[in-house]
Amino acid sequence: MATILVKNIKKLVGLANPSAPLRGKELSRLPAIDNAYLLIEDAEIAGYGPMEELHAGIKASTELDASGRFILPAWCDSHTHLVFAASREEEFVDKLKGLSYAEIAARGGGILNSARKLQAASEDELFLSAWKRLEELSRWGTAAVEIKSGYGLTVEAELKMLRVIKKLKERSSLSIKATFLGAHTFPPEYKEDHEGYIRLIIHEMLPVIAKEKLADYVDVFCEKGFFSPEETETICRAGMQYGLKPKIHANQLNLSGGVETGIKLNAVSVDHLETMSDDTISMLAASNTIGTMLPTAAFFLRMPFQPARQMIDAGCAVALATDFNPGSSPSGNMNLLIAMSCIQMKMLPEEAINAATVNGAFAMDLQHETGSIAAGKKANFILTQPIPSLAYIPYAFGNNLVENVMIKGEWISGK
Ligand SMILES: [Zn+2]
Repeated sequence: MATILVKNIKKLVGLANPSAPLRGKELSRLPAIDNAYLLIEDAEIAGYGPMEELHAGIKASTELDASGRFILPAWCDSHTHLVFAASREEEFVDKLKGLSYAEIAARGGGILNSARKLQAASEDELFLSAWKRLEELSRWGTAAVEIKSGYGLTVEAELKMLRVIKKLKERSSLSIKATFLGAHTFPPEYKEDHEGYIRLIIHEMLPVIAKEKLADYVDVFCEKGFFSPEETETICRAGMQYGLKPKIHANQLNLSGGVETGIKLNAVSVDHLETMSDDTISMLAASNTIGTMLPTAAFFLRMPFQPARQMIDAGCAVALATDFNPGSSPSGNMNLLIAMSCIQMKMLPEEAINAATVNGAFAMDLQHETGSIAAGKKANFILTQPIPSLAYIPYAFGNNLVENVMIKGEWISGK
């Protein structure tokens, strides 16, 4: 049995195992022990405590002295689109030069640009590029990630994306959840025939996805000009018949009705939430649905940030995720996301860390295996560089303070 002992940890953070996502004041509580040890056996957390309680008889195959360093749970990124064929920095520059979204779309940009390139890419190419992205994310501290389809938009290409995600799931040490987002946008040939595309999703895509077990969740981009609340409900209910739980893109650009639809369907999460009203916030607070905020997307698109303070104070269960995608959030760096959440949305460091770890795990139904430091959970954690305090992490934004990451008992950067 491989036993790893980490000693003299300046602060061991995130000691909890809640039975429900944290909300309201709970979010600011991040239990920790100063001068601690952490014991890992067979890739799982076997025990922890203050150094003075460390049993002298413990025989570890490896020992590490973590003096001056913090340990916190590895990040849980519950919303990404990290399988894609090409980056889109040329559109980024066009936007800097003043071109509007509509002008870029008219030049063949946007989601349809990603869709065209994805349709042309092979399964192997997509797998390799996504694999590299996962490796990078794991070095930055992410141990669990949700990945969506949605750049396929044809039966063949959506299935290709989901098969790539399935292969990543099987081969990566990260815990991965797959979400079917065939309803990301309407492909050009169905622009005037919404019912036709929805029929394709329900009758051609979903049965194969269910048969090959290609997805855990079903997602819809519920937004003006995209999918209406009624269309969202129809697609989600069809997915739910195959056991896929809904996670919905809601209220990014407008009060789209996506939050209400998600709550009605008991969705695991409603995601984005740049545009919220007092009513949608109180409805969300009274529900079991997690509100997942994607501030790096708001940042990249120069939109108002999510009303995190108001949502937390109203009692919403909130999570934070990167939305990693080539169009509106070309970064999967959770450390930057934490800093941005504190700086721009006035979340406390403890709130941001809880939202990006334990609540992110709940938003992927992975709360039993990761998201916090608890006996029996996977040994998934971040070892920081020497830092003065927890608040230093978001304060020193843009720094990489991650020294090493353990995922399922293995150090990512060797030790
Ligand atoms: Zn998204």
